[in-house]
Amino acid sequence: MKMPKKKRTYCPTCRRHTPHDVSKTKKRKASELKAGQRQFRRVLAGYGGFPRALPSGDKPTKKVSLKLTCTECGKSHIIKGFRVKKLDLVEV
Ligand SMILES: [Zn+2]
Repeated sequence: MKMPKKKRTYCPTCRRHTPHDVSKTKKRKASELKAGQRQFRRVLAGYGGFPRALPSGDKPTKKVSLKLTCTECGKSHIIKGFRVKKLDLVEV
């Protein structure tokens, strides 16, 4: 799937349509202080081991989230995961 690198869309901060820069979100290392990560460490610490089944094999598509950065106010918001085989950001 091809997606333009720049897009005119709604900015929740400006509360109107403005030009946005489109980029893919990157996975960050989980912070050890966040509630979910603390719970994960707590579950690992006891008997019973890993709390969930690991996926077996590859799925044909991967979920991608997009980060839209407003060029007027500089704030960004995220479009939550949708499934595609391949995502290319192209100049228009
Ligand atoms: Zn804005």
